Amino acid sequence: MSAHTFKANNPALKSFVEVSKDSDFPIQNLPFGIFSTDNAQDARVGVRIGDFVLDLAELSELNLFDNLDFDHSVFYENVLNPFIELGQQNWRATREKISELLQAGSDLERHKDKVLFSIEQVTMHMPVKVGDYTDFYSSIEHATNVGKMFRPNGDALLPNWRHIPVGYHGRASSIVISGTDIHRPKGQILPKDATEPIFSPCRLLDFELEMAFIVGKSTALGNSVSISEAENHIFGMVVFNDWSARDIQKWEYVPLGPFLGKSFASSISPWIVTLDALEPFRVASPEQDPEVLDYLKYEEKHNFDINLEVDLMPEGGEATTISKSNFKYMYWNMAQQLTHHTVNGCNINVGDMCASGTISGKDETAYGSMLELSWAGKNTINLKDGGERKFIQDNDTIVMRGFCQNDSVRIGFGEVSGKVLPAK
Ligand code: MN
Repeated sequence: MSAHTFKANNPALKSFVEVSKDSDFPIQNLPFGIFSTDNAQDARVGVRIGDFVLDLAELSELNLFDNLDFDHSVFYENVLNPFIELGQQNWRATREKISELLQAGSDLERHKDKVLFSIEQVTMHMPVKVGDYTDFYSSIEHATNVGKMFRPNGDALLPNWRHIPVGYHGRASSIVISGTDIHRPKGQILPKDATEPIFSPCRLLDFELEMAFIVGKSTALGNSVSISEAENHIFGMVVFNDWSARDIQKWEYVPLGPFLGKSFASSISPWIVTLDALEPFRVASPEQDPEVLDYLKYEEKHNFDINLEVDLMPEGGEATTISKSNFKYMYWNMAQQLTHHTVNGCNINVGDMCASGTISGKDETAYGSMLELSWAGKNTINLKDGGERKFIQDNDTIVMRGFCQNDSVRIGFGEVSGKVLPAK
């Protein structure tokens, strides 16, 4: 796949909607989401521009989508799945049409009070119905750090790690939209030096700084996606907080891997940024050594330069940025993940979510979890208000942000935020 150029990505484009320079949502982005204004029953498809949401159902009412050759009822749905099912050609046509409609001088401006809602006025909802959720483990820095802590006497990386994009099947049911409160999970933990487990609220609650892609094209059972086709099966991406209970995880994960330590919640940012909008930010992935098997070999650039940040905000306190990482550090890219996922004939469906795994960089300020930032509780993370943390405390809020920036444009994801309430 050669580098695409999309008219909607032209950095020279200007909208009649005022967008500040540091906004994640200029006219070159146009991410898709589900929003409501008065009540959740009205949830429908919107596109973000600056501090506003453009109502695609209303654009359809005004007959402004007449050249889009598909059933416009998809814009009145309360999830994006039916729209995504229409296929890449139609998502692209829709984004290009919206770009035209939002440009300075467009006729749409006279309808702006009808089609644009201030972000303060809307409630955001889960953008897709997630059928299946898979979590990878694709950052070599993260896998190495965890290996050192969990298996101090063995090799940090297990022998398969550089050959397979390691992953596991997670729970789709507990993926929630940004702003949803999370209750501290309870479960079995093995206290230090004990031989028998106890039942307790998690004592080592953590976040995982991840990104996830949303499957945009289904496959039939028995079929595989080749690596050159893989990105055509991806609709877009969100920032993903994969909340983790480290003490529950540590006791349960051998021999079959993560279970209740992970399945209690994951939070996502509400706007799905398309791969098309991210096109200007493609970068090469880290070199893979040893060479991977043929089905995982790829051409061209399949990684993206996306800055990532994590804030921890205590109840009533000030936010402290405790990690700054980047999606470009990923050892395994999304095309390789999806190719590997389907190589055995496992089918994928529109709306499925595949998360990257914790994204850590080399530098210790770029670690994507508190497990790494505090090095399993040996170190203290200092907060601006004088507080200290090793893991997440009750009533802490975790906020993650993602954005791409070059000299001419900023394409961002906004944020995913979640507050931890005491155990139920
Ligand atoms: Mn994870």
